[in-house]
Amino acid sequence: MLIPVNLGRSFWAVFLLWLGVLLRPEGIAAQEVREFMDLQIHTTMHIPYWFFGDGLEYFDPEDPPKLKNKHRFKNVNYANFLEDNPGARIFVNGTILPELIASKKRARRLTLEQIRYVNDFADAHPDKFVVARTPEKVRRYVHETDKTIFIHSIEGAKRLINSAEDARFWADQGVAFVTLLHLVDTEHGASGIKPGFLGGVINFKGTFKKLFGAAKKRGLKEKGKQAIRWLADAGIMIDITHMSELTRRDALDFMEAENIPPIATHDLFRPIQQHARGLSREDIRRIYQQGGFIALPLSGEVLEPYRPEAPYQQMLEQLDRHCTGSIDEFKFTYQAVKSFLENELVLSNYQEPFSDLPEAQKVDWAIGFQSDFNGWLSHSRPRYGERGCYEGRPYPLQQLEVQGLVHPGLLGEHWEVLRAEEVDLEPIRRASEKFLQLWQHFMDHRQQN
Ligand SMILES: [Zn+2]
Repeated sequence: MLIPVNLGRSFWAVFLLWLGVLLRPEGIAAQEVREFMDLQIHTTMHIPYWFFGDGLEYFDPEDPPKLKNKHRFKNVNYANFLEDNPGARIFVNGTILPELIASKKRARRLTLEQIRYVNDFADAHPDKFVVARTPEKVRRYVHETDKTIFIHSIEGAKRLINSAEDARFWADQGVAFVTLLHLVDTEHGASGIKPGFLGGVINFKGTFKKLFGAAKKRGLKEKGKQAIRWLADAGIMIDITHMSELTRRDALDFMEAENIPPIATHDLFRPIQQHARGLSREDIRRIYQQGGFIALPLSGEVLEPYRPEAPYQQMLEQLDRHCTGSIDEFKFTYQAVKSFLENELVLSNYQEPFSDLPEAQKVDWAIGFQSDFNGWLSHSRPRYGERGCYEGRPYPLQQLEVQGLVHPGLLGEHWEVLRAEEVDLEPIRRASEKFLQLWQHFMDHRQQN
């Protein structure tokens, strides 16, 4: 949580410094977590969509599957790639429903089936994987084991959250957060329609309203407000990703009034991606001010600039090298968001530079990432070689540089490449701690019936 500017800041700074010296050289308490945590991956897409290959299967290492970075409709979430992954110790698995689902029963059954699929997989491979259903368990597994940790989430709550009991049911399954909206308008509110053909066609109702002047009706609905309240009361965080502009604004208003911190796990940065899925500076300011945080998608395809503001357009043009659709897109947007947070928001909050904040306060300004593997998208193209932008081969040769981000097994290379280019990744590692603190906050504020 944010501590007000002049309320005992120096006291806390001295206290934490002292504590830090006592416990750990970097000022990080012993039970704290600094891991690469993937805020959402979809390993169970084959359950709602039969044509995806099964997730979490092991392939024969002698005969690995041939994969490309263009893998929108093809399973890439092999268990081989997830275990002992240097680029992600914690994976949040997001269940997904068919967008046009109409039956509450079927929605619950399909979601439960996906949660159980992940649980069964972890139970069958207890030496490598574990499912954590509480923030305390995540901390324990991080510090006491070498296992890869799964956390459950739900993406798209259509027909799923119809009462306080429903919310408690999912909390009992260990669901940490629910992304209320997905690709279509629902009983909860309106979905953000990205430019391009596919999104508009899937969300037919929303597109129709947008085109024919009913845009004002695309806000958060009464049921959406109820769902947020039920989820928060059950101890589940609310992800405002995928909302239309108006729904997002309504949600931020409602959550502010109700004192519920919001998270946004994979929206974009409007100054660079100027469309419905871009968070404005004001949205981001409000999210952090209300105690929440944001995470950015990882895919260079998703992060491509769209009508960027003039200063960003200029920055892009002045870059020595920028390979469209590659890891460079994450590098660019991440650094822009980081600079906005640390140089503008932090300064206006504390009147002192980010670098002078104690580590515990830096956690409040964390930025997470979301790989979204098998979430209806492809991933970053390579920068080098035939399908890249540049000739030659980088040294040391990275698979990521010549093939792109073809599967989750290359997440480690993604961070390695950025680190070699002097990108500060600490905000990303702090996001794991921020997530756990926030989840704990929700658990601590659960309401009984
Ligand atoms: Zn999504």
